[in-house]
Amino acid sequence: MNLINKQKKVAVIGAGFVGCCTAWLLTKQGHNVTLISTNSSGSSAALGLLMADVFQRSSGRSWRLRQQSMQLFGEWQQHLQGAGHQAKINRGLWLLTNNSNQWQKYQMLAEERSKQGIGMEIFNAAALKEQVELGVLPPLSEGLIGGIWSSRDGQLDPTEWMKELLLDGQNKGLKYINSKVSQLTQIDGSWQLSLEANNKDNEIYDWLMVCAGLESIALLAPLGLSNTNNLAMQPVLGQALELKLPAGINLQQSINWDGINLVPRPDNHLWLGATLEPGLNQNQAGSIDALKDMQQLNGAAPEWLNQAKVIRHWQGVRAQPLAQPAPVLEQLLPGLCLMAGHYRNGILLGPASAMWAATIINEDSKDN
Ligand SMILES: Cc1cc2nc3c(=O)[nH]c(=O)nc-3n(C[C@H](O)[C@H](O)[C@H](O)COP(=O)(O)OP(=O)(O)OC[C@H]3O[C@@H](n4cnc5c(N)ncnc54)[C@H](O)[C@@H]3O)c2cc1C
Repeated sequence: MNLINKQKKVAVIGAGFVGCCTAWLLTKQGHNVTLISTNSSGSSAALGLLMADVFQRSSGRSWRLRQQSMQLFGEWQQHLQGAGHQAKINRGLWLLTNNSNQWQKYQMLAEERSKQGIGMEIFNAAALKEQVELGVLPPLSEGLIGGIWSSRDGQLDPTEWMKELLLDGQNKGLKYINSKVSQLTQIDGSWQLSLEANNKDNEIYDWLMVCAGLESIALLAPLGLSNTNNLAMQPVLGQALELKLPAGINLQQSINWDGINLVPRPDNHLWLGATLEPGLNQNQAGSIDALKDMQQLNGAAPEWLNQAKVIRHWQGVRAQPLAQPAPVLEQLLPGLCLMAGHYRNGILLGPASAMWAATIINEDSKDN
Protein backbone atom coordinates (compact mmCIF):
# COMPACT_ATOMS: atom_id res chain seq x y z
CA MET A 1 0.00 0.00 0.00
CA ASN A 2 2.97 2.33 0.48
CA LEU A 3 4.67 1.86 -2.86
CA ILE A 4 4.19 4.57 -5.46
CA ASN A 5 6.10 5.10 -8.65
CA LYS A 6 6.07 8.86 -8.56
CA GLN A 7 5.02 11.36 -5.94
CA LYS A 8 2.17 13.61 -7.07
CA LYS A 9 1.03 16.93 -5.67
CA VAL A 10 -2.61 16.51 -4.74
CA ALA A 11 -5.25 18.87 -3.34
CA VAL A 12 -8.23 17.23 -1.64
CA ILE A 13 -11.12 19.70 -1.38
CA GLY A 14 -13.46 19.01 1.54
CA ALA A 15 -12.64 17.43 4.90
CA GLY A 16 -15.76 15.32 5.41
CA PHE A 17 -15.31 11.59 5.93
CA VAL A 18 -14.56 10.94 2.24
CA GLY A 19 -11.99 13.78 2.01
CA CYS A 20 -10.30 12.76 5.28
CA CYS A 21 -10.01 9.13 4.15
CA THR A 22 -8.66 10.18 0.76
CA ALA A 23 -6.14 12.71 2.11
CA TRP A 24 -4.93 10.21 4.71
CA LEU A 25 -4.45 7.32 2.29
CA LEU A 26 -2.69 9.41 -0.38
CA THR A 27 -0.37 10.91 2.27
CA LYS A 28 0.36 7.47 3.66
CA GLN A 29 1.23 6.27 0.15
CA GLY A 30 3.82 9.04 -0.13
CA HIS A 31 2.03 11.71 -2.18
CA ASN A 32 2.34 15.40 -1.34
CA VAL A 33 -1.19 16.17 -0.15
CA THR A 34 -3.00 19.35 0.94
CA LEU A 35 -6.50 19.08 2.41
CA ILE A 36 -8.49 22.29 2.07
CA SER A 37 -11.89 22.67 3.70
CA THR A 38 -14.42 24.89 5.35
CA ASN A 39 -15.21 23.72 8.85
CA SER A 40 -18.72 22.36 8.73
CA SER A 41 -18.99 18.73 7.68
CA GLY A 42 -22.12 16.72 6.92
CA SER A 43 -20.17 13.70 8.08
CA SER A 44 -20.25 14.81 11.71
CA ALA A 45 -24.04 14.39 11.61
CA ALA A 46 -23.73 10.73 10.61
CA LEU A 47 -24.36 7.84 12.99
CA GLY A 48 -21.47 5.83 11.56
CA LEU A 49 -23.28 2.56 10.83
CA LEU A 50 -21.24 0.20 8.65
CA MET A 51 -23.83 -1.89 6.82
CA ALA A 52 -21.90 -3.99 4.32
CA ASP A 53 -22.87 -7.64 4.76
CA VAL A 54 -26.53 -6.76 5.39
CA PHE A 55 -26.75 -5.10 1.97
CA GLN A 56 -29.50 -6.93 0.06
CA ARG A 57 -27.46 -7.69 -3.07
CA SER A 58 -24.41 -9.97 -3.32
CA SER A 59 -22.81 -8.64 -6.49
CA GLY A 60 -22.34 -5.41 -8.43
CA ARG A 61 -20.42 -2.21 -7.78
CA SER A 62 -22.10 -1.24 -4.53
CA TRP A 63 -21.54 -4.68 -3.00
CA ARG A 64 -17.87 -4.65 -4.06
CA LEU A 65 -17.26 -1.15 -2.68
CA ARG A 66 -18.90 -2.09 0.64
CA GLN A 67 -16.84 -5.26 0.99
CA GLN A 68 -13.64 -3.47 0.02
CA SER A 69 -14.31 -0.75 2.58
CA MET A 70 -14.85 -3.25 5.39
CA GLN A 71 -11.57 -4.95 4.56
CA LEU A 72 -9.77 -1.60 4.47
CA PHE A 73 -11.35 -0.50 7.76
CA GLY A 74 -9.74 -3.54 9.37
CA GLU A 75 -6.32 -2.68 7.90
CA TRP A 76 -6.61 1.05 8.65
CA GLN A 77 -7.72 0.34 12.21
CA GLN A 78 -4.59 -1.76 12.80
CA HIS A 79 -2.40 0.93 11.29
CA LEU A 80 -3.98 3.76 13.28
CA GLN A 81 -3.92 1.80 16.53
CA GLY A 82 -0.25 1.00 15.87
CA ALA A 83 0.32 4.77 15.69
CA GLY A 84 -1.37 5.29 19.08
CA HIS A 85 -4.91 6.20 17.96
CA GLN A 86 -8.05 4.49 19.22
CA ALA A 87 -9.73 3.92 15.83
CA LYS A 88 -12.65 2.20 17.53
CA ILE A 89 -15.13 0.08 15.61
CA ASN A 90 -17.99 -1.55 17.51
CA ARG A 91 -18.45 -4.76 15.53
CA GLY A 92 -21.83 -6.49 15.28
CA LEU A 93 -25.23 -5.24 14.19
CA TRP A 94 -28.79 -6.36 14.90
CA LEU A 95 -31.51 -5.98 12.25
CA LEU A 96 -34.93 -6.30 13.88
CA THR A 97 -38.36 -6.08 12.31
CA ASN A 98 -42.09 -5.94 12.95
CA ASN A 99 -42.83 -6.55 9.29
CA SER A 100 -43.45 -10.05 7.91
CA ASN A 101 -42.17 -9.29 4.39
CA GLN A 102 -39.00 -7.83 5.81
CA TRP A 103 -38.60 -10.83 8.12
CA GLN A 104 -38.70 -13.15 5.09
CA LYS A 105 -36.09 -11.04 3.32
CA TYR A 106 -33.85 -11.09 6.40
CA GLN A 107 -34.03 -14.87 6.62
CA MET A 108 -33.15 -15.28 2.95
CA LEU A 109 -30.28 -12.82 3.34
CA ALA A 110 -28.87 -14.62 6.38
CA GLU A 111 -29.08 -17.99 4.61
CA GLU A 112 -27.27 -16.61 1.57
CA ARG A 113 -24.54 -15.00 3.68
CA SER A 114 -24.05 -18.25 5.63
CA LYS A 115 -23.49 -20.06 2.33
CA GLN A 116 -20.84 -17.42 1.51
CA GLY A 117 -19.17 -18.16 4.85
CA ILE A 118 -20.16 -14.75 6.26
CA GLY A 119 -21.29 -14.80 9.90
CA MET A 120 -24.98 -13.97 10.10
CA GLU A 121 -27.53 -15.60 12.44
CA ILE A 122 -31.31 -15.76 12.33
CA PHE A 123 -33.32 -15.05 15.51
CA ASN A 124 -37.08 -15.65 15.64
CA ALA A 125 -39.20 -13.90 18.27
CA ALA A 126 -38.58 -16.62 20.88
CA ALA A 127 -34.81 -16.57 20.25
CA LEU A 128 -34.79 -12.78 20.57
CA LYS A 129 -36.63 -13.05 23.90
CA GLU A 130 -33.83 -15.33 25.09
CA GLN A 131 -31.28 -12.68 24.12
CA VAL A 132 -33.26 -10.19 26.21
CA GLU A 133 -33.28 -12.58 29.18
CA LEU A 134 -29.52 -13.07 28.80
CA GLY A 135 -29.08 -9.28 28.88
CA VAL A 136 -27.63 -9.15 25.35
CA LEU A 137 -30.58 -7.07 24.09
CA PRO A 138 -32.78 -4.60 25.98
CA PRO A 139 -36.52 -5.39 26.34
CA LEU A 140 -38.14 -5.25 22.89
CA SER A 141 -41.66 -4.39 21.78
CA GLU A 142 -44.31 -7.13 21.74
CA GLY A 143 -44.99 -7.13 17.99
CA LEU A 144 -41.41 -7.95 17.04
CA ILE A 145 -41.33 -10.85 14.56
CA GLY A 146 -37.66 -11.58 14.32
CA GLY A 147 -34.23 -10.37 13.38
CA ILE A 148 -30.72 -11.20 12.26
CA TRP A 149 -27.32 -10.68 13.80
CA SER A 150 -24.51 -9.62 11.48
CA SER A 151 -21.15 -10.13 13.17
CA ARG A 152 -18.86 -8.25 10.75
CA ASP A 153 -20.95 -5.09 10.28
CA GLY A 154 -20.90 -2.44 12.99
CA GLN A 155 -20.51 1.21 13.83
CA LEU A 156 -17.84 3.85 14.39
CA ASP A 157 -17.86 7.44 15.61
CA PRO A 158 -17.30 9.47 12.39
CA THR A 159 -16.08 12.61 14.20
CA GLU A 160 -13.50 10.65 16.21
CA TRP A 161 -12.28 8.84 13.09
CA MET A 162 -11.98 12.08 11.09
CA LYS A 163 -9.92 13.67 13.91
CA GLU A 164 -7.62 10.65 14.07
CA LEU A 165 -7.17 10.38 10.29
CA LEU A 166 -6.33 14.07 10.14
CA LEU A 167 -3.92 13.91 13.06
CA ASP A 168 -2.18 10.80 11.76
CA GLY A 169 -2.07 12.29 8.25
CA GLN A 170 -0.51 15.51 9.58
CA ASN A 171 2.11 13.44 11.42
CA LYS A 172 2.97 11.91 8.04
CA GLY A 173 3.19 15.27 6.21
CA LEU A 174 -0.41 16.11 5.25
CA LYS A 175 -1.02 19.87 5.07
CA TYR A 176 -4.38 21.27 6.16
CA ILE A 177 -5.78 24.65 5.10
CA ASN A 178 -8.99 25.92 6.69
CA SER A 179 -10.62 27.86 3.85
CA LYS A 180 -13.35 27.76 1.28
CA VAL A 181 -12.12 26.98 -2.25
CA SER A 182 -13.86 29.42 -4.57
CA GLN A 183 -12.41 28.52 -7.97
CA LEU A 184 -10.55 25.76 -9.81
CA THR A 185 -8.28 26.85 -12.67
CA GLN A 186 -6.61 24.58 -15.20
CA ILE A 187 -3.13 25.74 -16.29
CA ASP A 188 -1.07 23.71 -18.78
CA GLY A 189 -2.46 20.39 -17.59
CA SER A 190 -2.08 21.27 -13.91
CA TRP A 191 -4.44 22.95 -11.43
CA GLN A 192 -4.49 26.05 -9.30
CA LEU A 193 -6.99 27.03 -6.61
CA SER A 194 -8.49 30.32 -5.49
CA LEU A 195 -9.10 30.33 -1.76
CA GLU A 196 -11.46 32.60 0.11
CA ALA A 197 -9.08 32.88 3.07
CA ASN A 198 -6.12 34.38 1.20
CA ASN A 199 -7.39 34.82 -2.34
CA LYS A 200 -4.78 32.72 -4.16
CA ASP A 201 -3.11 29.49 -3.29
CA ASN A 202 0.04 29.74 -5.39
CA GLU A 203 0.60 26.02 -5.42
CA ILE A 204 0.31 24.07 -8.67
CA TYR A 205 -1.35 20.68 -8.26
CA ASP A 206 -1.15 17.57 -10.44
CA TRP A 207 -4.48 16.37 -9.10
CA LEU A 208 -7.62 17.85 -7.54
CA MET A 209 -9.95 15.47 -5.71
CA VAL A 210 -13.26 17.28 -5.15
CA CYS A 211 -14.84 15.80 -1.99
CA ALA A 212 -17.08 18.77 -1.15
CA GLY A 213 -20.41 16.92 -0.88
CA LEU A 214 -23.34 18.85 -2.34
CA GLU A 215 -21.14 21.93 -2.81
CA SER A 216 -19.01 20.06 -5.33
CA ILE A 217 -21.35 20.88 -8.19
CA ALA A 218 -21.08 24.65 -7.64
CA LEU A 219 -17.28 24.31 -7.79
CA LEU A 220 -17.40 22.37 -11.05
CA ALA A 221 -20.06 24.47 -12.79
CA PRO A 222 -17.70 27.25 -14.01
CA LEU A 223 -15.67 24.54 -15.81
CA GLY A 224 -18.81 23.66 -17.77
CA LEU A 225 -19.05 20.24 -16.14
CA SER A 226 -22.21 20.38 -14.08
CA ASN A 227 -24.83 19.70 -16.77
CA THR A 228 -22.99 17.64 -19.34
CA ASN A 229 -22.01 14.81 -17.02
CA ASN A 230 -25.31 14.06 -15.27
CA LEU A 231 -23.87 15.18 -11.98
CA ALA A 232 -27.08 16.54 -10.45
CA MET A 233 -27.58 15.74 -6.76
CA GLN A 234 -30.33 16.54 -4.30
CA PRO A 235 -30.09 17.14 -0.57
CA VAL A 236 -31.81 14.61 1.69
CA LEU A 237 -32.08 15.93 5.21
CA GLY A 238 -31.65 13.60 8.17
CA GLN A 239 -32.59 14.41 11.76
CA ALA A 240 -31.11 12.50 14.68
CA LEU A 241 -31.35 12.50 18.48
CA GLU A 242 -29.07 11.75 21.39
CA LEU A 243 -31.05 10.24 24.27
CA LYS A 244 -30.26 9.48 27.91
CA LEU A 245 -31.71 6.03 28.64
CA PRO A 246 -33.41 5.05 31.91
CA ALA A 247 -31.13 3.11 34.30
CA GLY A 248 -30.68 -0.61 33.72
CA ILE A 249 -31.05 -0.64 29.94
CA ASN A 250 -28.25 -2.62 28.38
CA LEU A 251 -27.40 -2.08 24.74
CA GLN A 252 -23.97 -3.23 23.54
CA GLN A 253 -24.26 -3.23 19.75
CA SER A 254 -26.18 -1.09 17.28
CA ILE A 255 -29.68 -2.05 16.23
CA ASN A 256 -31.36 -1.26 12.94
CA TRP A 257 -35.07 -1.41 13.79
CA ASP A 258 -37.05 -1.46 10.55
CA GLY A 259 -34.68 1.14 9.11
CA ILE A 260 -34.22 3.28 12.24
CA ASN A 261 -30.80 3.05 13.88
CA LEU A 262 -30.12 2.82 17.61
CA VAL A 263 -26.48 3.30 18.46
CA PRO A 264 -25.15 2.72 22.00
CA ARG A 265 -23.03 5.58 23.34
CA PRO A 266 -21.02 5.96 26.56
CA ASP A 267 -22.82 6.82 29.85
CA ASN A 268 -26.07 5.07 28.91
CA HIS A 269 -26.66 7.44 26.01
CA LEU A 270 -28.09 6.42 22.64
CA TRP A 271 -28.02 7.94 19.16
CA LEU A 272 -31.29 7.51 17.31
CA GLY A 273 -31.55 8.29 13.62
CA ALA A 274 -32.16 9.27 11.01
CA THR A 275 -35.13 10.70 9.14
CA LEU A 276 -35.14 10.76 5.31
CA GLU A 277 -36.43 14.12 4.08
CA PRO A 278 -35.68 14.65 0.37
CA GLY A 279 -35.26 18.17 -0.97
CA LEU A 280 -34.56 19.82 2.38
CA ASN A 281 -31.29 21.69 2.92
CA GLN A 282 -29.23 21.92 6.09
CA ASN A 283 -30.58 25.43 6.80
CA GLN A 284 -34.24 24.33 6.53
CA ALA A 285 -36.17 22.93 9.51
CA GLY A 286 -36.77 19.18 9.46
CA SER A 287 -40.30 17.83 9.87
CA ILE A 288 -41.54 17.57 13.46
CA ASP A 289 -43.80 14.65 12.51
CA ALA A 290 -40.94 12.72 10.88
CA LEU A 291 -38.88 13.23 14.04
CA LYS A 292 -41.74 12.04 16.27
CA ASP A 293 -42.35 8.91 14.15
CA MET A 294 -38.65 8.09 14.35
CA GLN A 295 -38.52 8.64 18.11
CA GLN A 296 -41.49 6.29 18.56
CA LEU A 297 -40.04 3.70 16.10
CA ASN A 298 -43.21 4.20 14.04
CA GLY A 299 -45.35 3.09 16.97
CA ALA A 300 -43.17 0.13 17.99
CA ALA A 301 -41.01 1.81 20.66
CA PRO A 302 -40.51 -0.20 23.86
CA GLU A 303 -41.31 1.59 27.13
CA TRP A 304 -37.68 2.41 27.98
CA LEU A 305 -37.31 4.30 24.71
CA ASN A 306 -40.46 6.33 25.40
CA GLN A 307 -39.00 7.21 28.80
CA ALA A 308 -35.58 8.26 27.43
CA LYS A 309 -34.69 11.93 27.77
CA VAL A 310 -33.62 13.98 24.72
CA ILE A 311 -30.12 15.40 25.26
CA ARG A 312 -29.38 16.68 21.76
CA HIS A 313 -31.16 17.06 18.43
CA TRP A 314 -29.26 17.66 15.21
CA GLN A 315 -29.65 17.38 11.47
CA GLY A 316 -27.39 16.88 8.49
CA VAL A 317 -27.70 16.53 4.75
CA ARG A 318 -26.88 13.61 2.50
CA ALA A 319 -26.03 14.17 -1.18
CA GLN A 320 -28.13 11.88 -3.37
CA PRO A 321 -27.11 11.57 -7.04
CA LEU A 322 -30.15 11.89 -9.29
CA ALA A 323 -28.84 10.53 -12.58
CA GLN A 324 -26.52 7.74 -11.48
CA PRO A 325 -26.05 5.32 -8.58
CA ALA A 326 -24.26 6.45 -5.41
CA PRO A 327 -21.42 7.18 -4.99
CA VAL A 328 -20.17 9.35 -7.86
CA LEU A 329 -16.48 8.55 -8.29
CA GLU A 330 -15.48 9.96 -11.63
CA GLN A 331 -12.50 11.50 -13.37
CA LEU A 332 -13.97 14.51 -15.18
CA LEU A 333 -10.86 16.05 -16.75
CA PRO A 334 -7.14 15.19 -16.68
CA GLY A 335 -6.14 15.65 -13.04
CA LEU A 336 -9.67 16.41 -11.82
CA CYS A 337 -11.87 13.90 -9.98
CA LEU A 338 -15.27 14.18 -8.36
CA MET A 339 -15.85 12.04 -5.25
CA ALA A 340 -19.29 12.88 -3.90
CA GLY A 341 -22.91 11.74 -3.81
CA HIS A 342 -22.34 8.99 -1.24
CA TYR A 343 -25.93 9.46 -0.07
CA ARG A 344 -26.61 7.20 2.96
CA ASN A 345 -23.26 5.39 3.09
CA GLY A 346 -20.46 7.94 2.98
CA ILE A 347 -18.92 6.67 6.21
CA LEU A 348 -19.02 3.03 5.14
CA LEU A 349 -17.67 3.87 1.67
CA GLY A 350 -14.93 6.30 2.77
CA PRO A 351 -12.01 3.83 2.57
CA ALA A 352 -13.10 2.26 -0.76
CA SER A 353 -13.53 5.75 -2.24
CA ALA A 354 -10.05 6.71 -1.06
CA MET A 355 -8.65 3.55 -2.66
CA TRP A 356 -10.40 4.45 -5.93
CA ALA A 357 -8.61 7.84 -5.86
CA ALA A 358 -5.26 6.23 -5.08
CA THR A 359 -5.64 3.79 -7.97
CA ILE A 360 -6.44 6.56 -10.49
CA ILE A 361 -3.47 8.66 -9.36
CA ASN A 362 -1.01 5.78 -9.15
CA GLU A 363 -1.98 4.42 -12.56
CA ASP A 364 -1.41 7.88 -14.00
CA SER A 365 1.97 8.06 -12.24
CA LYS A 366 3.02 4.88 -14.04
CA ASP A 367 2.18 6.39 -17.42
CA ASN A 368 4.10 9.65 -16.91
C1 LIG B 1 -28.27 12.11 9.91
C2 LIG B 1 -27.36 11.32 9.03
C3 LIG B 1 -26.99 10.03 9.39
C4 LIG B 1 -26.11 9.30 8.58
N1 LIG B 1 -25.72 8.07 8.99
C5 LIG B 1 -24.82 7.37 8.23
C6 LIG B 1 -24.37 6.10 8.67
O1 LIG B 1 -24.81 5.60 9.71
N2 LIG B 1 -23.46 5.44 7.90
C7 LIG B 1 -22.96 5.97 6.74
O2 LIG B 1 -22.13 5.33 6.09
N3 LIG B 1 -23.38 7.18 6.31
C8 LIG B 1 -24.30 7.88 7.03
N4 LIG B 1 -24.75 9.10 6.60
C9 LIG B 1 -24.29 9.60 5.30
C10 LIG B 1 -22.94 10.24 5.43
O3 LIG B 1 -22.97 11.19 6.45
C11 LIG B 1 -22.54 10.91 4.11
O4 LIG B 1 -22.66 10.02 3.04
C12 LIG B 1 -21.09 11.38 4.23
O5 LIG B 1 -20.98 12.22 5.35
C13 LIG B 1 -20.61 12.09 2.99
O6 LIG B 1 -19.32 12.55 3.27
P1 LIG B 1 -18.55 13.57 2.34
O7 LIG B 1 -17.17 13.66 2.85
O8 LIG B 1 -18.79 13.20 0.92
O9 LIG B 1 -19.34 14.95 2.52
P2 LIG B 1 -19.38 16.00 3.71
O10 LIG B 1 -19.27 15.34 5.03
O11 LIG B 1 -20.57 16.85 3.45
O12 LIG B 1 -18.07 16.83 3.53
C14 LIG B 1 -17.90 17.82 2.57
C15 LIG B 1 -16.86 18.78 3.09
O13 LIG B 1 -16.55 19.73 2.07
C16 LIG B 1 -16.44 21.02 2.65
N5 LIG B 1 -16.68 21.99 1.56
C17 LIG B 1 -17.82 22.19 0.86
N6 LIG B 1 -17.63 23.14 -0.08
C18 LIG B 1 -16.33 23.53 0.03
C19 LIG B 1 -15.52 24.48 -0.66
N7 LIG B 1 -16.00 25.21 -1.67
N8 LIG B 1 -14.24 24.64 -0.28
C20 LIG B 1 -13.72 23.90 0.74
N9 LIG B 1 -14.45 22.97 1.42
C21 LIG B 1 -15.73 22.79 1.07
C22 LIG B 1 -17.50 21.01 3.75
O14 LIG B 1 -17.24 22.00 4.72
C23 LIG B 1 -17.32 19.60 4.29
O15 LIG B 1 -16.32 19.58 5.28
C24 LIG B 1 -25.62 9.87 7.38
C25 LIG B 1 -26.00 11.15 7.01
C26 LIG B 1 -26.86 11.87 7.82
C27 LIG B 1 -27.24 13.26 7.41
